[in-house]
Amino acid sequence: MKRILIAEDSATMRSMLVATIQSLDGFEVVEASSGFEALRLLPRERLDLIITDINMPDINGLELVSFVRTSDNYRHIPLFIISTEGSERDREKGLSLGANEYLVKPFDPARLQDLIVKYTS
Ligand SMILES: [Mg+2]
Repeated sequence: MKRILIAEDSATMRSMLVATIQSLDGFEVVEASSGFEALRLLPRERLDLIITDINMPDINGLELVSFVRTSDNYRHIPLFIISTEGSERDREKGLSLGANEYLVKPFDPARLQDLIVKYTS
């Protein structure tokens, strides 16, 4: 099983992401409802992909991306940002911090599934 960490403070969006992932074979999801919880889970799980929101209380998604990409233990893990912030500036910021993909909400489930398979195989 491939394991995906979702960091998303909206329970509604989190369940949409979980449903999208679980309709693929061979994936399981670890859910974090804040950036802080995501950081707490990182050392406990062998992860194949991280998907993070940007706007979250405590540690935001960009801080999470920055932490992951500067850590020898986690920098190799593919990472997607999914955000309501769709401006070119936000996208560039996310990608320059090291996110592999930047998707804008509402996301296209089929495209997300394609990207998940691409980055985890
Ligand atoms: Mg949010």
